[in-house]
Amino acid sequence: MASPAVDYARGNQQRFLNELKNLLRIPSISTLEEHKSDVQKAAEFVASELRRIGMEHVEVIPTKGHPLIYADWLNAPGKPTALCYAHYDVQPPDPLDEWVSPPFEPTERNNNIYARGAVDDKGQLWMEIKAIEALMKGHGGKLPLNVRFIIEGEEEVGGESIAEYVRKQKAKLKADFALVCDTELFAPDLPTLCVGLRGLVYTEIEAVGPKTDLHSGMYGGAAPNPFFGLIEIISKLKDAKGRVLIPGFYSKVKAPSAQELKAWKKLPFDEEYYRKTEVGSTVLTGEPGYSVLYRTWARPTLEVHGRHAGWIYRPGREDGHPGESFGESFHAAGAEPGSG
Ligand SMILES: [Zn+2]
Repeated sequence: MASPAVDYARGNQQRFLNELKNLLRIPSISTLEEHKSDVQKAAEFVASELRRIGMEHVEVIPTKGHPLIYADWLNAPGKPTALCYAHYDVQPPDPLDEWVSPPFEPTERNNNIYARGAVDDKGQLWMEIKAIEALMKGHGGKLPLNVRFIIEGEEEVGGESIAEYVRKQKAKLKADFALVCDTELFAPDLPTLCVGLRGLVYTEIEAVGPKTDLHSGMYGGAAPNPFFGLIEIISKLKDAKGRVLIPGFYSKVKAPSAQELKAWKKLPFDEEYYRKTEVGSTVLTGEPGYSVLYRTWARPTLEVHGRHAGWIYRPGREDGHPGESFGESFHAAGAEPGSG
């Protein structure tokens, strides 16, 4: 027998979905100035639903960027407090001609809802709110624990305002654990609790050689070439098998517990399917001796994400232009908990 909360959720499923679709229709694109009022509208939409279901102290908090939403329900003395996070802003929908149905007109196909933000992160956000609603309705207006919400509208533009708010409002946001609902299910119909994401260190390396662009026929072989300098640096960062060679890179990496490793084994994971369908490559790479899940969940990685160097043709400039920036972007994801 299902719980009263689950019964309530099942009985109201269609309404929940219709509400989610209304939220999905709001083009709350945080990166585009012309959508600022839509982002505000989405914030108001979420806040008014939090009020309606019985959350208390609901605030739409103005920031330098897009508003934050706070709400709480703290009427379970002695019980733990959960801090629920999600975001209501979305990425721009470009390129538009890749969409089968319009990005801001949610459409159901094969039991999925297709719309910008459906899985990042409005679906998850609505799920959190609807779970609270169902729990309240199923238990006479009460929750079995204390709940706070902090919801942002700047996740897709760096999240500066929430970082500042969290730093300043430690007491207000105090909780025993945080539920960050901005991840995914491991497989369809498999309820998934993601307990950690790799953090990120980002850097750019710039190499410069001669004071000006030089003719390779006249100076090549004597003048240092910054492009080769970068290639040399990059080639020494990892060995051919994928192990990062930076001294100390792995020294503080914590190994997963035996229990975690055992749990991962139970997951429906097919390496061939992953290679073909998710990655789309002929082989998988990475540190020898570790499984794919181990490499992506419990080991840090180092990746190169962009490079421009040398003579770069720039449309609109007839003479082209010697490269003015010999840059390399690096993206190292560590195994420590942090932002995704
Ligand atoms: Zn997200």
